[in-house]
Amino acid sequence: MYRTESGDDVFIVDSHIHFWDASPENWKDEKHAEGWINCFYDYHANLSPDEHTWTLEEYRNPTDERMVADLFETGHVDKAVLQPTYLKEFYHKGFNTVEQQAYLLEKYPGKFILNGRFDPRDGAEGLARFRDEIDQYQFQGAKLYTAEWRGDSKGWKLSDPEARPFFDLCVERGVKNIHLHKGPTIWPLTLDAFDVTDVDVVATEYRDELNFIVEHCGLPRIEDFCWIATQEPNVYAGLSVVAPFIHAKPYYFAEVLSEVLWWVGEDRMMWASDYALWEPGWLIEKFWDYQLPQEILDKTGLDQITEEAKRKILGLNAAKLYDIPVPVAA
Ligand SMILES: [Zn+2]
Repeated sequence: MYRTESGDDVFIVDSHIHFWDASPENWKDEKHAEGWINCFYDYHANLSPDEHTWTLEEYRNPTDERMVADLFETGHVDKAVLQPTYLKEFYHKGFNTVEQQAYLLEKYPGKFILNGRFDPRDGAEGLARFRDEIDQYQFQGAKLYTAEWRGDSKGWKLSDPEARPFFDLCVERGVKNIHLHKGPTIWPLTLDAFDVTDVDVVATEYRDELNFIVEHCGLPRIEDFCWIATQEPNVYAGLSVVAPFIHAKPYYFAEVLSEVLWWVGEDRMMWASDYALWEPGWLIEKFWDYQLPQEILDKTGLDQITEEAKRKILGLNAAKLYDIPVPVAA
């Protein structure tokens, strides 16, 4: 719960976090495993305030104690959604898999929601494994990574026919919140394989059945994202990676936030830190105090962002999607 200066409580759901292991012992393809975490670290160091910048050593392999303190003690977060990223071609155990993160549910009861994942290139075997994992963990959501490498393949599309049985299984088992990394490239993966336009196909197809949370709003293809999202009521804007620009590049942040507010609106926006990319505490404090610049209001015709909108974005919208009970005072 974030306690504001005027003494109000704000309910916070961090809708996109990771608990990863990028320590050298876990590097399988050394060049790409090291390059990957170095690229994450560049995002972290370039967009964080100095006092919230870690060392590369700390960053490679955070402890669960540190994560829990950063999220729930100093970070104001009430509930956090763990989003897996596999990358088994780069890391022996994977980067942050369902298995690596699952113990957190028991060790810290009530704090985390664990999402699953699938990759249609795994075929029937992958489908069976995903079904077993749904039974075991009762996923409410999944995180998909369309730019992941697999042998010669450098990515897949949500609209591929091979993906259909997986989405159908999600519908059948109530795995209703599909988070998509769309936009920002992470070395060595490519921007094109993270292109946002395939969301349009599945969002229409599963309009009444699945929610698609487009993480990072498709940046830099914000315009494509907005034009798709405005027509698809089941498409949401995930503000992970957008959020830290509030500090490092504030005018850019204002432009992106105002575009998303104008096209998609405050009822379909979800804040996230993308921990350990960035710590949630400073992001939340800055966002709560945030006002859109007058120049942007004049240009867009938007009204100033309200506290009510911020409450929805910081927690209430995600609480609805994940059926998280919200204390009355929040
Ligand atoms: Zn992420």
